[in-house]
Amino acid sequence: MDRSKIYEVYGSDPGVMTRALLEAVRPEQEIPPGGLVVLKPNLAVSKPAESGATTHPGIVGETIRYLREKGVDRMVILESSWIGDQTREAFRVCGYETVAQFYGVPLVDVKKDAYETKTVNGISIQISRTALEADYLINFPVLKGHCQTKMTCALKNMKGCISDRSKREFHSLGLHRPIAALNKALPCHLTVVDGLCGDLDFEEGGTPVAANRMYCGWDPVLLDAYGASLLGYQPQEIPYISMAAELGCGCCDLEQMSLMELNHSEQGSAAVSSRRVRRLERLVHASSACSACYAALIHALARLEDKELLGRLGEQLYIGQDYRGKALDQVGIGSCCGNFTRCVAGCPPKASDIVEALEEELE
Ligand code: SF4
Repeated sequence: MDRSKIYEVYGSDPGVMTRALLEAVRPEQEIPPGGLVVLKPNLAVSKPAESGATTHPGIVGETIRYLREKGVDRMVILESSWIGDQTREAFRVCGYETVAQFYGVPLVDVKKDAYETKTVNGISIQISRTALEADYLINFPVLKGHCQTKMTCALKNMKGCISDRSKREFHSLGLHRPIAALNKALPCHLTVVDGLCGDLDFEEGGTPVAANRMYCGWDPVLLDAYGASLLGYQPQEIPYISMAAELGCGCCDLEQMSLMELNHSEQGSAAVSSRRVRRLERLVHASSACSACYAALIHALARLEDKELLGRLGEQLYIGQDYRGKALDQVGIGSCCGNFTRCVAGCPPKASDIVEALEEELE
C-alpha cells in the first residue's frame, strides 16, 4: 500500500469505474480472513445520486460484488442521515434498500446503533459501535460543496458514523476541529470518492455539476487536499484538512501525491443545470469539452463569484477538444487550447489552477 498514490478513473458507468479502481488497489489483500467490512456511503439526505448529494448505489453495489468474488463475506452498509432526516428513508430513496436486498447485505442505521465514546484532543465523540468493530472500513464520500466548510468529501463523510448528539456538538464546535478528531478516533482503511456529479455549493444537492470522475486511495487527508483543488480551493482554505494532517491522519501536501490515471477524461452527459450553473455557463464557449474539464471551469467560476471577481471577467472563456490546434487570441482552458495566446494547461486542469490563472488575468 502506497499512501501517496491516488487512482483516478473517468466515465459515466459507476459500476465499470468502481471495478477499475478496485482492481488497481486490490483491497482484498488487506482484509483479514473472516473480517467485517463496513461500507460507508454518503446518504446525508433522502435524494438520489443525480441530485449531487448522495453516493451512487452502483458504486457500493459493485464493491460488494467485487469483494464477494474475492471471498469476502461479512459486509454491512452503514450510515446516519443528517439530523432531521430518517436514515431508513435515505436507504430507500437512494437505492440502498435494493442493493442490500439484492446482495443480502445488512443495512445499519447509526441512529439506532450502540455507541462508544472516544476522546481526541479534548473532544469526546459518540461513535457507532459497528463502525468501530470494522476490520476494514471503506468510505464512499461524494466530492461536493458545503455551505459551512466550503467542501465535503472523505474526512467529513465520517460524520455519518456518530450519534446525532455528537453531530450537534460538532456544529457548536465549528466542525473543523471535531472532524479532524473523528478521523483520528475512527480511521478508514480505503476511500472511494464519487465525483460523478457532486453539488457545486450544498451538501444537500440541487446544483449538480457533471464531472464523470471517481478516484480512490488510502490517505483521506491527501484525497481531500486533491478534492479541494478539484473544487477550486487551495487545501489550506479548508481548515479541517490541515488539522487532520497535524493529528497524523495523513498528508495534506499535494506535492507528495502520485496521481495514477487509469483512463482519459471524455465527453459525458451533463447534469441538469441549476440556475447558478446556467449563469456561470454564460461566460463559457464550450465545444466538445470533456466533463471533468468543464466541471473544473464551472467550479473555478463559482469560486471567482464567491470572491466577487466574476463581474470583472470581461471576456468569454474557451474550452473543448474542437479548439485543438487553433490559435485564437482568447483565454483557453485545458491543454486543447494550448495554441491560444493565454491558456490554463492541464488535461483536465484543476479548478484551483484555473482560479489562480484567472485571478492573475484580473490583476
Ligand atoms: S484539455 Fe481537452 S482533452 Fe483534456 S480534458 Fe480538457 S477538453 Fe478534454
